[in-house]
Amino acid sequence: MRRTTCLAMLTLAGVTAVVAANEARQERFGIRTLEIADNLYVLTSDPAEQGMRTGGNTAVFVTASGVTLVDTKIRGYGEDILAEVARITDNPVTTIINTHTHWDHSGANTEFSDTVDFVVHENTAGHMASTDCDDGAGYQGGSIKNCEAFTGDDARFLPRITFATRTSLFSGADQIDLYYFGRGHTDGDTWVVFREARAMHTGDMMARKGLPFIDADNTNGSATEFGQTLQNAVDAIEDVDTIIPGHNDDPLTWDDLVDYAAFYDDLLTRAQAGAAAGQSVEETVAAYSVPEEYSDFQAPAGRVEQIVGLIYEGR
Ligand SMILES: [Zn+2]
Repeated sequence: MRRTTCLAMLTLAGVTAVVAANEARQERFGIRTLEIADNLYVLTSDPAEQGMRTGGNTAVFVTASGVTLVDTKIRGYGEDILAEVARITDNPVTTIINTHTHWDHSGANTEFSDTVDFVVHENTAGHMASTDCDDGAGYQGGSIKNCEAFTGDDARFLPRITFATRTSLFSGADQIDLYYFGRGHTDGDTWVVFREARAMHTGDMMARKGLPFIDADNTNGSATEFGQTLQNAVDAIEDVDTIIPGHNDDPLTWDDLVDYAAFYDDLLTRAQAGAAAGQSVEETVAAYSVPEEYSDFQAPAGRVEQIVGLIYEGR
């Protein structure tokens, strides 16, 4: 049984031209706030604008003791996030969970109080603390790992609460369950379940209804294991209706996640069959088309090429 989720659009902050917080940022994009449940909101970007905009989706979970955020968007958006939180509650931000290390999900971590409890998977903590900061090609706004943000004085923002496979924060109606189901987008992707709200933030394990970016080069993501990790989540998690995706402007449903696992598995199976039959990567990519039953999923050519190439390499 699926509960119909009522989504009320609360605010759509206007686009302001100039930025004080971060001189590297040319434009300030608007944050769009959606209500998922009484105490759970998601800060997305404006669908009328194109591209990365404010970065990944930020969940705002209000408890009696404080506010827990999931992900902090791009560097420079901390004050915007805090302004949206202030519209929702007077409670302070006390906990920040990052679904993974990437700059568009942890970029504003250092713009919050250093008394905040930062919580991540143990591999993500390692990436954030790494001194090997590859400036991910094609990514604007900083390193794909975002470890540059946590150097010098800002090392005090490095997460000190980590987990390996499963942990919970808070209790009763405030309970949040954190899971790690294996490698995929990176090797440190956390799945965040808001028990009472029957909602889950997937980070970039499900960024949108489309083939994922696999960060195999910088953070040990895996195209060969991505599908199994999705399936592990589908098999293990119960009582979730609403998916808060890493980037999609609107929430998705549990059924979308189930379909996503099958959609990815179809490409994995075809790529492995192509390799076994001696076809080249190019031939396998050329032969691929989105199956009819997943026609609402996107498969950009570049993503198909990247994923098939990685699968051929066994990565
Ligand atoms: Zn990412």
